[in-house]
Amino acid sequence: MNKSGIPVEPEHSPGLLGKNDGPAYELLNPDGRAALLLVCDHASNTIPQNLGTLGLSEDQLNLHIAIDIGAGAVTRQLSQRFDAPAVLAGYSRLVVDVNRRLEETTAFPDESDGILVPGNIGIDVAERNARIRECYTPYHDAIAAQLDGFNSNGVVPAFIAIHSFTPIMSEEKRPWEIGILWDKDSRLSDPLIRLLSDEYGLCVGDNLPYSGRHPADFTVDHHAESAGLAHVGIEIRHDLIRDTVGVDRLAGLLGNCIEVVLRDESLYHTLGSVDIPGACRT
Ligand SMILES: [Zn+2]
Repeated sequence: MNKSGIPVEPEHSPGLLGKNDGPAYELLNPDGRAALLLVCDHASNTIPQNLGTLGLSEDQLNLHIAIDIGAGAVTRQLSQRFDAPAVLAGYSRLVVDVNRRLEETTAFPDESDGILVPGNIGIDVAERNARIRECYTPYHDAIAAQLDGFNSNGVVPAFIAIHSFTPIMSEEKRPWEIGILWDKDSRLSDPLIRLLSDEYGLCVGDNLPYSGRHPADFTVDHHAESAGLAHVGIEIRHDLIRDTVGVDRLAGLLGNCIEVVLRDESLYHTLGSVDIPGACRT
């Protein structure tokens, strides 16, 4: 096991990233003063040079199957607004999905939303290990290191994961403009759902179009829920944040709601460590 608690693959495998490839993650505001950590698992559609395009066209690599469109830009704005550290993944989820447990087949998807990913079909153990070692583990280590830093300073931070979702999935239109994903800890989700609906009139999905109760949200489960940190997953419909006007609008109103919610002192305790009225709903 290493810093992030993810098992280290003992097997040797050829290197993946070359000298022209970027880092496995981007860290913004590492010394930010807010008691808040932002993460963006699907911020990038970058593929390591060694993997070519995974057999996909440039157009396909610009689709939601490769990247959460607009999510990285929203995360950057929130990081700046709140002076909060943020960790953004440096590689596409098609290389390895950092928001999945490694034993899940969707960690290395060979098909996504009806599109085959040729470069992921039949990949061997060595190839998987290289992607884990050089992309997946460093990203989660970076999140763990930030949380260690908060801990060393005696701070219990809130944890927010930013994602985006496609307006149409499997030919079904999704009406929600924002989805708020949570499981047992409703300290962030309850007021966010209320503010986004009441103050901004948005169509908010309560655990829709995905659910915080589904095991697919590995990052939140592994780093925040298990530690009792107040947490939430925020999913923004990506047609709303495709351009800078949309990003500014959504990051602005979302930031306004987060600002109100972060005033609640009950967030800055681990769930179960103190009596937090109304914090837990099943
Ligand atoms: Zn995502």
